[in-house]
Amino acid sequence: MRLWRRQAPEWRPVLCLDFDGVLHSHDVYGKTLADIPGPPVTGAMDFVVGAQDKFTVAIYSYRSRRWSARRAMQRWMRLHLTRHFAGDESAADAVLRQIQWPWLKPAASVTLDDRALTFRGTWPAIADLVAFRPWNR
Ligand SMILES: [Mg+2]
Repeated sequence: MRLWRRQAPEWRPVLCLDFDGVLHSHDVYGKTLADIPGPPVTGAMDFVVGAQDKFTVAIYSYRSRRWSARRAMQRWMRLHLTRHFAGDESAADAVLRQIQWPWLKPAASVTLDDRALTFRGTWPAIADLVAFRPWNR
């Protein structure tokens, strides 16, 4: 007789989070895809923790295509989640375990990106796209 049953994770819609300029405060590319020089955007760790109540958080970036860069983003998230939880690594790991790290753009319910516009059926003027600047520029 089986005394335990593996709990299937509760299904939640996917929230796709960009990395640079959303979680990572620098929108400056390092020397390699695995080079992550900056601190988090203020409130980023709080946001990720809160979002997990309603969403499966998937972190997807131009970095994601490289295994070494995904590992670097994971290490960076672990460091800053651990700081967020005042040194509690197990709390950080509990959050980290629920984050998905796709290497292809995931099918997401909603995406948060600093270099995107919401398409609402009306084409933007090319000049507006040319003039586009992310929030931190
Ligand atoms: Mg970005």
